Amino acid sequence: MQHLYSVLQTGGVGLLESPTGTGKTLSLICSTLQWLEDRNKADAQEALAASTSQESCCGTGCEADSDLPDWMRSRGAFGALHPSGEAPAKGAKQLARSGARPPGLQEERQGISKEEAEFLLDEWESEGEDCGSKRKANGYASIDSSSDEDGTDTEEEETPKRRQVYFCSRTHSQLSQFVSELHRTPFAASFSVATVASRKALCINDSVQRLGNATRINEKCLDLQSGKGRKKVVTEAQGNTKASSKSHSGCPFRKANMTSQRQLKDTVLAMPMDVEDMARLGRRKELCPYYAARAALPEADLVLLPYPALLLKETRESLGVRLEGNVVVVDEAHNLVDAVNNVHSALITAQQLATAHSALESYYQRFRALLAPGNSKHIQTLMCLASTLQKCWNRPSGAAGTRLDTVNDFLFSMELDNMNFFRLIRYIKESKVLVKIAGYADATSARAGDEVTPNATDGQTQSDGGSGMSSLHALVGLASALNNADADGRIIVDTAAKTLKFVLLNAGAHFVQVLASAHAVVLASGTLAPVSSLKQQLFPGLPATQLHQFSCGHVVPKERLLAVALGRGPTGATLDLRHEQRAQSSSMDEIGTLLTNICQAVPQGVVAFFPSFAYADAVYAHWQSSGALAALRSKKHVFREPRSSVEVEAVLRQVSSLYHIAHLAQMEKGPSGALLLCVVGGKMSEGINFADGMGRCVVMVGMPFPNPTDPELCERMRFMDTCAASTPAACTDTSSAAGDGVAPISASSPGREYFEDLCMKAVNQCIGRVIRHRGDWAAILLADVRWTAGGANKPLRKLPGWIQESLVVASGFGDAYSRIRRFVRSM
Ligand code: SF4
Repeated sequence: MQHLYSVLQTGGVGLLESPTGTGKTLSLICSTLQWLEDRNKADAQEALAASTSQESCCGTGCEADSDLPDWMRSRGAFGALHPSGEAPAKGAKQLARSGARPPGLQEERQGISKEEAEFLLDEWESEGEDCGSKRKANGYASIDSSSDEDGTDTEEEETPKRRQVYFCSRTHSQLSQFVSELHRTPFAASFSVATVASRKALCINDSVQRLGNATRINEKCLDLQSGKGRKKVVTEAQGNTKASSKSHSGCPFRKANMTSQRQLKDTVLAMPMDVEDMARLGRRKELCPYYAARAALPEADLVLLPYPALLLKETRESLGVRLEGNVVVVDEAHNLVDAVNNVHSALITAQQLATAHSALESYYQRFRALLAPGNSKHIQTLMCLASTLQKCWNRPSGAAGTRLDTVNDFLFSMELDNMNFFRLIRYIKESKVLVKIAGYADATSARAGDEVTPNATDGQTQSDGGSGMSSLHALVGLASALNNADADGRIIVDTAAKTLKFVLLNAGAHFVQVLASAHAVVLASGTLAPVSSLKQQLFPGLPATQLHQFSCGHVVPKERLLAVALGRGPTGATLDLRHEQRAQSSSMDEIGTLLTNICQAVPQGVVAFFPSFAYADAVYAHWQSSGALAALRSKKHVFREPRSSVEVEAVLRQVSSLYHIAHLAQMEKGPSGALLLCVVGGKMSEGINFADGMGRCVVMVGMPFPNPTDPELCERMRFMDTCAASTPAACTDTSSAAGDGVAPISASSPGREYFEDLCMKAVNQCIGRVIRHRGDWAAILLADVRWTAGGANKPLRKLPGWIQESLVVASGFGDAYSRIRRFVRSM
């Protein structure tokens, strides 16, 4: 906690490694919130000192605040109300939002039915070549085309800026655990907390939730609040047309009476809540918890949010996440690089392109006569983009059916280099054109009798393989990705799968925005090992003075852990489990015998991790025919990790029901305890707790290296080599050559190191499942000859320090077996 507190004091980046059971979450809560409390006090004192040294609050001799209590005056540091009582700039903001269509426009909609009129766009003027500010025709803008694309309250209030801590984790359940821990501290009562979540997680409108897919839920919610069901009340005030905030939403849970919505926001802020709590509260009050959470965000001291809400600039801006001068804590940060890469990558299929093009075309044909030049131009640009991209699969590709290009090479080769993607994306965001086009496409399909019911699993329509909205979003996602710097990503055209993908290679180019804004960024995890690639990918140019790294030892004494690296099987054969060798029946027999012996030696639960589902299936099938499975079943009840996540819980319940009765003495009488066959990277390799008898031994079967021929991985490795050979600044220049998947990758290089790190990161996650608290104990068996080879560079050095302390390299299987047996008997 002291380390963490000092990072918050000085600012910069803190890397915190704290294994499970060491109280990582409580440490994060207590140090960040104590720091926040201290800073707020210091700020208040500074503000008080400043205000008492001034004669007036505004330098004009006004002494209106002299009667105010100290605490109220001190809030001036964060933008308190002016003594005049006027909220600054509020009027200007409302004025910018105000407006309606000019009289007479409705009459011009000749030939357009009343139903179709709702799909018409507000007018949009073409912009000048200087890329200057866009203008709505005649200064008019409707509520639903305002910058408030996301439907934020029109009666938005200016809230005083406050110092905030943003706590970010991967899943809602991890954020829920954080809230439970927060309740154990006195800070739960003294700090206001807002939990930000998606509409999919918080929407309480059942008819909207039934759509199942996040894109469609967002789309429907916005739809409800924009044109359909929202009544615009136009009044004339001081010569300006003004949209009243008394307009009502099409959703019954977003009431016209904003007082009740505000009360819900205040309730949300009054006590830390997780997503489930907020959804329950919303249902009880019959008020939308999603918008209550959004309204609460600017007023919260502590904001809990999932990764995308932090990592995407557009989402930050839309939600009102302000990082400037604030603290960001990212939990489970070993996932952070992947998360940054994923949220900034984009994929579109041939089917989606065709659907998007068709939706654009039919909309344009129907409304072209009524579209303002600005709208017309941009919709035509989108049509041109969609039709041009459909030709990308006709270009020559490599032997594997894929082609890799830099962004610029791709744009030139597709003759899209003259397209202004910045302007196009801005138009799409601000005009809400996608909602109109997709709405029209859906209405047309419905009229034609097409089934547009969303698929429960992927939200795509059954009739066309992709809804208008999801296809348009995919198109815009790709267009947006094409704005990345040339060297920061690659375009992968997969001719066989008919997909077009942008992959981000330079995660640091986006994460730098978070680093540059926040006062301090803390990356926390049970293990960040190997740390080197995390640093290189996220903050390659960060001065060492701004990087603070600290690692907590495990709470478990080293005597309660045994890690064994083993290169030979029970028959003395080399455990060569490389991809090409491991499917041989002799290898699979060796693994079967090894596991049978381990199940004999270890009481309660044994967990074995295989490198892939395909290999686990092959081994299991082989064991069924060879009799190895029967031998295993004579020692343990054998379970397999299900592919479907909904079945995981049931399997874990069965495994946990067995360990309580499984003791060494009972093992002589028949199968006792469970053997769980899992897959690295599967649902059970992360976030699952194999504490106590659930996992007394974890066996890593082979080493889970990624596929070295994967074009995306090859390009990423090549990119890392290029960056390492240049100065950090060169990572974002445009001089990198396009990869064609055949350029050699150095045998010893940052790229190669990254390749190995991917394997080690996966291993560290798997083996970390079995030691969960101070009283726990477990053995770890690393079964592959590669663990024992490699001299000083062997992969064992990339294991977390607390495991290395208990590590031995066995001379053979007999040595490993007797060590494990002795260890188990000593516990
Ligand atoms: S306003 Fe809230 S409850 Fe209504 S549809 Fe949108 S997210 Fe759902």
